[in-house]
Amino acid sequence: MPVGEDQVQHLELSREVARRWNARFGDGYFPEPQAKLTPSRRIMGLDGNAKMSKSMGNTVGLLEPPASIWEKLRPAVTDPARVRRTDPGTPEVCNIYHLHRAFSPPDTVAHVETQCRTAGWGCIECKKVLFENVNQELTPIRARAEEIRARPALVDEVAGDGAATARRVAGATMREVKDMMGLA
Ligand code: SF4
Repeated sequence: MPVGEDQVQHLELSREVARRWNARFGDGYFPEPQAKLTPSRRIMGLDGNAKMSKSMGNTVGLLEPPASIWEKLRPAVTDPARVRRTDPGTPEVCNIYHLHRAFSPPDTVAHVETQCRTAGWGCIECKKVLFENVNQELTPIRARAEEIRARPALVDEVAGDGAATARRVAGATMREVKDMMGLA
């Protein structure tokens, strides 16, 4: 199950419920969900203080226009030890580096590490590269969102199909569960 690092504890609760139910009524019936973490497990807000949160205004929106994203990235907090352009940095403590890990290809991430540690470039150059890669990733998402926005009936149709499938699958599961618990 794809989750952020801070959701792992909630997933653990589901695993515990599945384990207990399985032990009592039917071993292995409910598979224990496994956390699927990406290389960037936790993205902090652009202010560097907390995780991204809309209410704190430190987020980057997937459908946000490029100019607005750059306005936010340009002043975003980086490694506080890089006071001057010539100061070497530690990418691991920098949120921009973690965003690179989420959006940039591996060779670019390696380049960022080298350039940061050797003060080979300034943070603005680093952010410009990130900005390009964020845009590259978000451009098709924005285009798809536009297409969907133009066809609201499609959204209703897909949501309706999904709800019908979920009802069918959940109904069958509940019948089996009640049977195994002797409640049928
Ligand atoms: S060079 Fe990049 S990774 Fe290093 S501190 Fe600056 S923004 Fe962060």
